Amino acid sequence: MSNMGTSSLCEAVSRRDFVKACVTAAAMIGLPFEMVNQVMAAATANNNPPVIWLHFQECTGCSESLLRSSHPVISNLILDMISLDYHETLMAGSGAQAEQSLHDSITANKGKYILVVEGAIPTAENGIYCKVGGKTALASLHQAAEGAVAILCIGTCASYGGIQSVSPNPTGAVGVRDIVKDKPIINIPGCPPSPYNFLSTVLYYLTFKRLPELDELGRPKFAYGRKIHEHCERRPHFDAGRFAQAYGDDSHAQGYCLYKLGCKGPATYANCSVQRFNDVGVWPVSIGHPCIGCTEPEILFKKTIEEKVQIHEPTPFDSYAPVSLKEKGKGPDALTTGLVGLAAGAVLGAGVMVARKLPGAAATKEKSKHAK
Ligand code: SF4
Repeated sequence: MSNMGTSSLCEAVSRRDFVKACVTAAAMIGLPFEMVNQVMAAATANNNPPVIWLHFQECTGCSESLLRSSHPVISNLILDMISLDYHETLMAGSGAQAEQSLHDSITANKGKYILVVEGAIPTAENGIYCKVGGKTALASLHQAAEGAVAILCIGTCASYGGIQSVSPNPTGAVGVRDIVKDKPIINIPGCPPSPYNFLSTVLYYLTFKRLPELDELGRPKFAYGRKIHEHCERRPHFDAGRFAQAYGDDSHAQGYCLYKLGCKGPATYANCSVQRFNDVGVWPVSIGHPCIGCTEPEILFKKTIEEKVQIHEPTPFDSYAPVSLKEKGKGPDALTTGLVGLAAGAVLGAGVMVARKLPGAAATKEKSKHAK
């Protein structure tokens, strides 16, 4: 699984697909178009760092989604531009042979390799709840982290502990940052994360030989700097107060905002609404499922699907185009609006008259008379 170099990379993916993937990754990072050549040169350089990829408490969904993307470009790019020395799911070797390969790679590349971690780490009872090759995940992480230049946590489990860490958390599962304190750690959360976020982070490192700017949770700001809600295609419905009320009903079929069904988009930092998944331009919200906040440590598996999150920006930003409540061919005409207004006025008037006749209203009137 070593680096295949420029020619092999071009054989694995067409030049067109390669350029397209690099342009997309560069745009995600926020680089100007003129820097795409630099990114492509970094991707095809033969001196890229070795990578050791460890799996702990996880479902392997992050690796699976990365490798089984409907379009092979991303997985080919990632696997070809790094020298993947150890990955339990992919490597042909097993047992003592695999363990020897891990040991050799750590020893030979001390201070040079990138450590990728997938899965949470159980800490209860000295970590006995997850062992690989007779060694606890805790011991393996300590051993591999020592010689790493940086640690990349792929997925929510490695980043924050994920579903394993939810109360009562019998195995004492935590994320890497709760254990390793003396190494640069980049979190790429998501369940699973977008393969493009992983690709762009690796490309950033290869191009600039340093880590991208991170937020307080250790996530690259270029991918997790804005809320899903800010660029969601259902946002005009949110701003106009049109909400899906139930799965499968008319309001849901019309594509209305999913907030009332528990969408966590207003509190979730990620680029899913922009980058999408599976190379066919879809993501959960676009196919009718609320965002579950899988990049947020305090939301995923801690709030139920239907639980609503706090709205902090109830109105659209000034820079947004104005939203019209009237839909083409569906909006009420002037006559209907007038009749509805008349009816509403009549109901309101009747309500006021009824209120005046209520005993409480009489008492209030009497009280204000005395106050004068
Ligand atoms: Fe989109 Fe969810 Fe925000 Fe509605 S609440 S606009 S569905 S992200």
